Amino acid sequence: MHENITLLNLSGSNKRIISLFKLFRLNWKYLIVYTEKKVSDSAVSADIYKIRQIRFLTESTFVLRFDRGNMQFKAGQHIIVGLKEELNQREYSVYSGEQDDYLEILVREVFNGSVSLQLKQCKPGQLLHVNGPFGSFGIEPFDMFSKKLVFIASGTGIAPFHSFVRSYPGIDYTLIHGVHYNSEAYERNDYDPLRYISCTSKENNGGHKGRVTRFLPGFPVNQDMLFYLCGNNSMIYEVYHILRDKGIQDENIISEVYF
Ligand SMILES: Cc1cc2nc3c(=O)[nH]c(=O)nc-3n(C[C@H](O)[C@H](O)[C@H](O)COP(=O)(O)OP(=O)(O)OC[C@H]3O[C@@H](n4cnc5c(N)ncnc54)[C@H](O)[C@@H]3O)c2cc1C
Repeated sequence: MHENITLLNLSGSNKRIISLFKLFRLNWKYLIVYTEKKVSDSAVSADIYKIRQIRFLTESTFVLRFDRGNMQFKAGQHIIVGLKEELNQREYSVYSGEQDDYLEILVREVFNGSVSLQLKQCKPGQLLHVNGPFGSFGIEPFDMFSKKLVFIASGTGIAPFHSFVRSYPGIDYTLIHGVHYNSEAYERNDYDPLRYISCTSKENNGGHKGRVTRFLPGFPVNQDMLFYLCGNNSMIYEVYHILRDKGIQDENIISEVYF
């Protein structure tokens, strides 16, 4: 998958440009962008890491824990991972926190997928090829404790928010998580129950029944909020427009598209 990758090194306030780039379905899959500002203290590296643990959260979703090595990253960034003996690699947001002495990713097996299936079948002791970190989906230090942060995820799109919450205790956040089934509210005990809202589309769980896009119109917003969106393209596209209709400025919506 790497033959079409363009490596751009942009500086300045490119985070919003990247969000728009992704939002309007330009050829984002083939672009890896990292900013001087965000990544200057977390140099990109490529290395071999040993798998330590696989923790299944559902039949098809699991957390893969492996050595951290010298990897320095900012919460929200992603890495590119594949089994050492395999050619294919894919992007995964770091799920663990900046202070953890291991790296974790949250992976859902995709039907007929290649890498997600290989990772699901791997065992502790096997070796991974890991590149990174990449990306600028992160919280600026200035915003961290001065803004209300609203994280909106679909499925495994919760991964970077898990890293935010683990890395930055004390941030003022609300996490809105769209899932099909209650069992997909991955490790929800890791979040403050008063700050975690699940929107479950295929069963009743006593929480909010229906998709995130059904919940959001009734969610009170204001201009002090920063919105972080992560997950599939159509959720992000719809949520973006709901937020814009509610008067949220474009620069206060930051997104990371998975597929
Ligand atoms: C920046 C970034 C971060 C990502 N972080 C994560 C992460 O933390 N956890 C995670 O599980 N995935 C994440 N992904 C998606 C991941 O990179 C792979 O696309 C996914 O694991 C499928 O790879 P595969 O080789 O198994 O399937 P492939 O053979 O590459 O793809 C099969 C098909 O499945 C689609 N697809 C990809 N992901 C999904 C999905 N989650 N649900 C349904 N269909 C999908 C693809 O568009 C493709 O059409 C991220 C993607 C990006 C761009």
